[in-house]
Amino acid sequence: MEPARETPLVADVEVGVVGGGTAGVMAALGAARAGARVAVLERLGNLGGMLSSGLMGHFGNRFRDQRGRDIVAGAPRELLGRIIAAGATPFATLDDALNADDMLFYRHEHAGNECLRMLDEAGVGLWLHACFAGAAPAPDGGYDLVFESKGGRLAIRARQVVDATGEADVARRLGAPIREDLRRRYSWGLLFEMGLVDLERYGAFLATCKPECPEWTPWLAATLGLSEAALAQDTYWGEWLDRRPRAWPFRRQIMRAVDDGALDLVRTLPEGGSVRYGWDGFWPEPWHGKDVVHANVCMVTGLDPSSGRHVSVAEAGARRYAFDFVRFLRAYIPGFERAVVRAMSAQTVPRGGIEIVGEAEAVLHGAGSPAPAICLSGFAAVGLPLGMFVPRGVPDLLVAGRCADHGYAFRPSVSCMAQGFSCGVIAAMAARRQVTPSRLDPAEWQAALRQHGVLLEPGPESGRGRPPQPRLPGVPSHDPSDGARRARKLS
Ligand SMILES: Cc1cc2nc3c(=O)[nH]c(=O)nc-3n(C[C@H](O)[C@H](O)[C@H](O)COP(=O)(O)OP(=O)(O)OC[C@H]3O[C@@H](n4cnc5c(N)ncnc54)[C@H](O)[C@@H]3O)c2cc1C
Repeated sequence: MEPARETPLVADVEVGVVGGGTAGVMAALGAARAGARVAVLERLGNLGGMLSSGLMGHFGNRFRDQRGRDIVAGAPRELLGRIIAAGATPFATLDDALNADDMLFYRHEHAGNECLRMLDEAGVGLWLHACFAGAAPAPDGGYDLVFESKGGRLAIRARQVVDATGEADVARRLGAPIREDLRRRYSWGLLFEMGLVDLERYGAFLATCKPECPEWTPWLAATLGLSEAALAQDTYWGEWLDRRPRAWPFRRQIMRAVDDGALDLVRTLPEGGSVRYGWDGFWPEPWHGKDVVHANVCMVTGLDPSSGRHVSVAEAGARRYAFDFVRFLRAYIPGFERAVVRAMSAQTVPRGGIEIVGEAEAVLHGAGSPAPAICLSGFAAVGLPLGMFVPRGVPDLLVAGRCADHGYAFRPSVSCMAQGFSCGVIAAMAARRQVTPSRLDPAEWQAALRQHGVLLEPGPESGRGRPPQPRLPGVPSHDPSDGARRARKLS
């Protein structure tokens, strides 16, 4: 299809990071701080991925585990500290933030800026609007990473590579096995922010909403064509039942809008996909502005993130649904009459990415893996082994973030940052020694990680900053009724 061509080699580095998002920025920083020459390829015009262009806007307080013990320190904490110093959070100091049993809200634009500044200060070579397009083994080891840019097709040569694309783009190109069974399983999300909301009026409306809504369950079952028993068993719709009465205060308005044809609970998309009204988050956070509401209500399912066509279907479907949802709010929910979409994520993101099959799996529900950990993650402070980030059969490649093996289970942004940083340090050591990461002595990389502030054992119980308890699978990480509480505070 294409004529043969020469691809200019524009950089020769020890560590190449593909994807300058949550994990990738930290990987580049880790590698650079460990003394490597580093280059990052990022397809968007900004760094930070979900932290910035993805509009996350908060760190669930995952710097500590459920016992209030420190589990993530070092560079991820530094990034939070810099966002705080820029005045872009509600907190005066890093300690205030870490001790808050809260969501750690921040302005996503500032996260992107601080990522840029940190990589700049570390001397990382940056290629923005650089979409990774292919990889080939380099003559003396490592890989040539080909990318599309405004200047045409270019390449960088890297002895070690960290794939932080979220969809394992590099690993897949290099033939790494992926978890096929999971490709279509996880939902995709599109975050957006609304402005011009009258939060006082919304708060007054919420105060009139009764938590009980006995007609809800029969209505939902009839609307979805399910029996009530089947509905209760459904992992998605079951969440909507009256056992969580506070989660959606305006269920009566939802029923009316659906019956009026003004809101689809589920909308069919091409290629077997669907987009539906999600429960994952809807929170007015007055700190962001007295007329601002964040929404995480578009859930796309049934599509394959490795298909170019499906990615396009997901994007278009989620965006249309988001604007229709705002139209519903304007028409049915007091306070939203003038609401507009103020900002929207640059991309609809598959939460589970595409997971590689790694050399080792983390122990998900136990005390941790017996293998040496590269970082800690989650409410239970699980130690993540290096093998989770090493795709089977592909040397000189580490895969960090939501595309790591079991990436979905360890996807919170703070965890992705911690994974990325440690992978970067280890990639730099492997590049220097000219060996694959798995051949390094774990005692040596653990010592190096500690020097860079990585926690490999939880700190002492602090009794403060304890994050919310883990919930059942599929239950939102943040109860939207908390948003109602915030809105009421205003009125
Ligand atoms: C809708 C949604 C809500 C979430 N809510 C929460 C929450 O409340 N709390 C929480 O802790 N976590 C949450 N998460 C999870 C968390 O945000 C992500 O798992 C984490 O940020 C992912 O980090 P990452 O580095 O793997 O991916 P990303 O941050 O997405 O970074 C991937 C980067 O790679 C780039 N890229 C991709 N392909 C290429 C390519 N071919 N060439 C060049 N660059 C490329 C992308 O542009 C992006 O910048 C949420 C995720 C989603 C999708």
